[in-house]
Amino acid sequence: MADFVGAVDQGTTSTRFMIFDHGGNEVARHQLEHEQIMPQAGWVEHNPIEIWERTVAVVRTAMQKADLSASDLAAVGITNQRETTVVWDRRTGRPYYNAIVWQDTRTDRIASALDRDGRGDVIRRKAGLPPATYFSGGKIQWILENVDGVREAAERGDALFGNTDSWLLWNITRGSHVTDVTNASRTMLMNLETLDWDDELLSFFGIPRSMLPEIRPSSDPTGYGVAHVDGPLGGDVPLTGDLGDQQAATVGQVCFSPGEAKNTYGTGNFMLLNTGTKLVRSENGLLTTVCYKFGDAAPVYALEGSIAVTGSAVQWLRDQLRIIKSASESESLASRVPDSGGVYFVPAFSGLFAPYWRSDARGAIVGLSRFNTDAHIARATLEAICYQTRDVVDAMAQDSGVTLDVLKVDGGITVNNLCMQIQADVLGVPVSRPVVAETTALGAAYAAGLAVGYWKNTEELRENWNESQRWQPNWTPEQRDQGFGRWKKAVQRTLDWVDVD
Ligand code: ADP
Repeated sequence: MADFVGAVDQGTTSTRFMIFDHGGNEVARHQLEHEQIMPQAGWVEHNPIEIWERTVAVVRTAMQKADLSASDLAAVGITNQRETTVVWDRRTGRPYYNAIVWQDTRTDRIASALDRDGRGDVIRRKAGLPPATYFSGGKIQWILENVDGVREAAERGDALFGNTDSWLLWNITRGSHVTDVTNASRTMLMNLETLDWDDELLSFFGIPRSMLPEIRPSSDPTGYGVAHVDGPLGGDVPLTGDLGDQQAATVGQVCFSPGEAKNTYGTGNFMLLNTGTKLVRSENGLLTTVCYKFGDAAPVYALEGSIAVTGSAVQWLRDQLRIIKSASESESLASRVPDSGGVYFVPAFSGLFAPYWRSDARGAIVGLSRFNTDAHIARATLEAICYQTRDVVDAMAQDSGVTLDVLKVDGGITVNNLCMQIQADVLGVPVSRPVVAETTALGAAYAAGLAVGYWKNTEELRENWNESQRWQPNWTPEQRDQGFGRWKKAVQRTLDWVDVD
């Protein structure tokens, strides 16, 4: 058996390739950003060709850094930004249009129409998702309706849809059109019980079945196709792991038992709670999603709380308000004051995701008085990340009956000690971060390695998880209740602000 496992992590802002050893330790990595294309307000696109070229470059460079060749890799996994939609021509391999990114809100009319005639409830029941601009189905419909020639190409069977996992696998294998259950569960097109595309759901969006990839397990011993020898890996490495990024992080955090959860803090925040083989339908604004499916074993489901704006609110302080020069400065600026001085910031820049799902909301900073400074605004931004998480944690407790005794965290913001301390204070439970913070890539590597027997079972993976840091809650229950009560009031002020009908 070869010594290492690789993982492509195709994220919203960058693509990286990471190589891990049997202990789950990082051996090498390379990462490259790609352009964020914003043609108009609310639109966010990526160039799929650029993403493919970056993928080739990061794989080759990481392999060179580690001085490895294809035969040193036991398997390779892929994990990806979810929902982001690519439609390309089967004959030429050219995309018909840029990738429409998960954050893009151009489909708000498509999404709100679904809730006016009962289709929304069918989507909730069958796909486990509330109709929203977030998911792929509306984005595919938009491309079919707005890009010349795509509808005809789709009817002929020439137009293919994929999230970026499918797009990369199609290119790496030169022609294998596949995805995994976790990615498929983010389209509004897959039935959560049959794990197959659902004709009724497809009809809601006018999407021909021939556009869709084959749905496979997230860890698949048969592999997703043969890596082309002229591709970035330079040889036939088993391609045996494929998961959406948040599900991959859940695997990387070894949340394999029902009741175990992780929260990832990046551009947005995504908390997933493993609910086992039980499909739990949310009554409190969470998504029901597939957590993973390993080979022939039964699928494992999760409840998910997705928050659109967390790290990107810190970027907004840096790029738009310009009160900090780097994201890390948010910590030193916020530390200048002991609290937010009564200020609450609800960063509903593109509406609110979980648990509210209100596309009519817009951002607000409330509670301002003349006393307040940039430091209070920075602190309110970090608090907003934590209060949004509290909203999601509360919804999870109501839906599942599970109360957390510790919150496992990962992602770019978790280097911010103050933010993690506030998180423990706001929740009243300890917050714990693992040594290997790259849980997304690690989870994809785990899925790939499990499929080929590089790792024997999930117990072996659990042994790789080690804590690096833990934050204990300090606030009194009164402080916690008062702060959260004001946050809830602030959220109310942001609702029903824009007209989306
Ligand atoms: P993604 O995978 O979504 O691209 P990352 O996990 O790389 O995100 O995290 C990047 C996000 O974290 C950015 O939005 C950035 O603003 C935020 N961030 C990075 N460092 C810090 C910090 N020290 N304090 C607060 N936010 C941070």
